[in-house]
Amino acid sequence: MSSSFHPTPRTLMGPGPSDVSPRVLEALGRPTIGHLDPEFIGLMDEIKSLLQYALQTKNALTLPVSAPGSAGMEACFVNLLEPGDSVIVCQNGVFGGRMKENVERCGATAIMVEDDWGKPVSIDKVTAAFTAHPEVKVLAFVHAETSTGVASDAKALCELAAANGALSLVDAVTSVGGINVDLDGWGADAVYSGTQKCLSCVPGISPVSFSDRAVEVINNRQHKVQSWFLDMQLVMGYWGANTKRAYHHTAPVNAMYALHESLVMLKNEGLENAWARHRQHHQALVAGLEAMGLTMLVEKPYRLPQLNLVGLPEGADDGAVRSALLAQYNLEIGAGLGALAGKAWRIGLMGYAANQNNVLLCLSALDNVLSAQGATINRGVAVDAALASYA
Ligand code: PLP
Repeated sequence: MSSSFHPTPRTLMGPGPSDVSPRVLEALGRPTIGHLDPEFIGLMDEIKSLLQYALQTKNALTLPVSAPGSAGMEACFVNLLEPGDSVIVCQNGVFGGRMKENVERCGATAIMVEDDWGKPVSIDKVTAAFTAHPEVKVLAFVHAETSTGVASDAKALCELAAANGALSLVDAVTSVGGINVDLDGWGADAVYSGTQKCLSCVPGISPVSFSDRAVEVINNRQHKVQSWFLDMQLVMGYWGANTKRAYHHTAPVNAMYALHESLVMLKNEGLENAWARHRQHHQALVAGLEAMGLTMLVEKPYRLPQLNLVGLPEGADDGAVRSALLAQYNLEIGAGLGALAGKAWRIGLMGYAANQNNVLLCLSALDNVLSAQGATINRGVAVDAALASYA
């Protein structure tokens, strides 16, 4: 006989998904209604306006794509690009590589600007790339690189794109809700995010937003968008303003209740307060990790508070530590990726998970597991250091 699935509750302090708040989970379980029910249409309008708040934009074309962050990424590229276009793609971690794939699958050319993993995108290198390639249509970069815990200067990059007559395309999957994302202040043209990071909603939805300049490019395309599902002109028939909402796809109705609830929570907390909360718990976590003798691998000016890259101490076995944290403490932290695999952990403090209990749990659990493994750490001091940071 088959039986129901009941996952063990975990504390999610990896690179995402992050802990979903009970309020959001409760919203998910409310009665499903039709995706064209007048009440649902009203909810869609509220979601759009709450997203405008979260992204700090007046962009009319701001909506949640009914699929995860990767679909938001693809939506931005396929709608803006046509065969033969050129794009500067900045890569300083995993996700720039995915952008390159998207560009090439659109029949466009990716001009790569590469920086070391763990460093932000170099403004000087991008400036040089624009000088060498004045034909560039789009500058694409990741604001908050989840693979390394690095923030790049989104404002400077968007302004550089505009100064060179190009559109800016920003990955804000990990940044929204955790640090300042200011679409209109930056003059960003196409932005996508995800629900499973600092919005602390269930995975599987990708907020996107396009500036009027980007919409004009979309409206004047020579070729059909290669993806039917992600074609914004078609999606607008369902999500757009001043239109008789018509069926395009069946929205994930209950997931939209959850997104709405998480955005209401963000709005009630206030953006600035949410960023300050992430910073506060990040500082306490770092104080504890450093007291333990561990090293933060990203330099302070561009460290993400919501994703902390920390080096393994001498004598620690990466896989064994993460397995013990999961088995003994129901605590998930993330592994290092690429060149950082086996050498670093990624500790997330995203959205609802950015709280004092999680910081103290993580520090005491690491202290115990690393001590049991005989790793070289200062025992028994991390929690006090974090508490001192809170005081
Ligand atoms: N971009 C960044 C920076 C991410 O961290 C992620 C997911 O971790 C994605 C894109 C892709 O999002 P998803 O996994 O929801 O498709």
